[in-house]
Amino acid sequence: MTGELILCRRCGETKARSAFNNQGHSSLPRQPCKQCRSVARRAEYIASGGSRVSHAQVLRDKYGLTPEQYDRMLQDQHGLCAICGQPETRVGSGGEPRRLSVDHDHRTGAVRQLLCGRCNSVTWAVEESPGLLDEVRKYLERHRRLGDG
Ligand SMILES: [Zn+2]
Ligand SMILES: [Zn+2]
Repeated sequence: MTGELILCRRCGETKARSAFNNQGHSSLPRQPCKQCRSVARRAEYIASGGSRVSHAQVLRDKYGLTPEQYDRMLQDQHGLCAICGQPETRVGSGGEPRRLSVDHDHRTGAVRQLLCGRCNSVTWAVEESPGLLDEVRKYLERHRRLGDG
């Protein structure tokens, strides 16, 4: 069985069996070859607008916002976080700057404003436990005093 060569119907190349996936639960080679399949997937991704579309999907599915609504909110806030007034500092896995997060009321789902990642997590934590900020302040003060003396 070694050295079995299969013709890919897409690229017309004759390739080793390992260049093909299995067809469902059978051991038949799946057409076209793996390389053609990944090229097709990438083309689909690019044709759909890449990450722009996945962001749009998140906006729609999670917050019921269109990319246009998001852009308008971003413009209203001059591209800055509604709490600290700074731009987003986190970067994505590819090193690209991330977008500001959409903050929403977790109970009603109502969209509030755009926040940087840091303020978004703080807001989320304080919303969960409203006394948390005071406790954090006390904690910091306690340690500051310990540090002084
Ligand atoms: Zn191929
Ligand atoms: Zn912020």
